[in-house]
Amino acid sequence: MKKETKFSHISRPKIGIATPVNHNITKASTLLFNKSKDLYRSDIRGYGRHGSEIHDALAHAFNVLEDGVATTIFPSGLAACTVAILSLVKTGDHVLLTDSSYGPIKKFCMQFLSIMGIETELYNPRIGCDIEKLIKKSTRLIIMESPGSLSFEIQDVPAIVKIAKKNKIFTLIDNTWSAGLSFKPLNHGVDISCHAATKYFGGHSDIMCGVAISRTKEIAKKVKQTATHLGNSISPDDVYGILRGFRTLVTRFKQQEETSLSLAKWLNEQSKVSRVIHPAHISHPDHELWKRDFTGGGCIFSAVFKPCSEDEVNKFIDRLELFGIGFSYGGYESLCINCDPQLIREKSNKLPGPLIRFACGLENLEDLKIDIEKSLLKLKLA
Ligand SMILES: *Cc1c(COP(=O)(O)O)cnc(C)c1O
Repeated sequence: MKKETKFSHISRPKIGIATPVNHNITKASTLLFNKSKDLYRSDIRGYGRHGSEIHDALAHAFNVLEDGVATTIFPSGLAACTVAILSLVKTGDHVLLTDSSYGPIKKFCMQFLSIMGIETELYNPRIGCDIEKLIKKSTRLIIMESPGSLSFEIQDVPAIVKIAKKNKIFTLIDNTWSAGLSFKPLNHGVDISCHAATKYFGGHSDIMCGVAISRTKEIAKKVKQTATHLGNSISPDDVYGILRGFRTLVTRFKQQEETSLSLAKWLNEQSKVSRVIHPAHISHPDHELWKRDFTGGGCIFSAVFKPCSEDEVNKFIDRLELFGIGFSYGGYESLCINCDPQLIREKSNKLPGPLIRFACGLENLEDLKIDIEKSLLKLKLA
């Protein structure tokens, strides 16, 4: 079955007589039993924190999406990543983290893990096989994100996983960019694939949700236990919204990846733009690696403008009418941010500034171009 068909039909309620197309939302903290002894049965969900039928339905859809054995659902993408990380490490461990990682994850590792006595070392996202040189006796986990947030470096995931396996090290990837549609990390042997389901799966910028999809039962057990210990829980209303997003995911993603690549190609030709950074664009330094491992692109990319003042960059963004000024991506509305102030890189090259990130929504491509063109016209270069 093709993806569009699969995700229209997956995880639907079993049809009886006059069954709704979608799952009911069952709202509960307390679950009641008619026999006292049943309260402590291990084969039954005994309390609202452990989810509901619709939680199971959503988890199943994610398992199928990425060929995982189990999915744990979290109240945010950040929670999915941090709890999944915590489930694999202990005091005294050494963790390798890509320098291109999502900012709040970097902060979690540098600040929170450090308090726990876990050392985080940043690596250059283009390190490939050379990651072996950074491995110590205490190295327990490698945390990847490909492409990197804001700067879009593609990592050689198969090479890194091969070295991790040889050294008995766990691997985790933040796979938010690909929506699990254009890249399947578990099939390359990565242990846990995390998503900010907030982005493409929500699709309408109104739900926070994260998932951690595990490759093996042993890994899944660790994630689930840690999530339970930390009191993880998400409302059935939010889960309903994410499962609804799944129904249109493939179609929205296709449209948005097409708009994003077309817009990147067009921007690359504009005289005030020095280059675009989009893995699916031929000019991207990791384009060959992207072609080898990915089957498609995403909806976000960055553009490096020719030198101009910070003030000019902000004015350029303020003038846009169709691009909202806000974080996140994967919703139906286009967004634009100035990345420069938050691009703190230690192990990889700083980009030759002003870096502007575009997230494409479902608007018409020509309308988006006109909006950018009008604002570019007024941009004053240094
Ligand atoms: C947005 C994002 C997150 C965090 O997800 P939230 O649901 O906003 O907490 C994590 N990783 C990446 C790559 C993201 O883009």
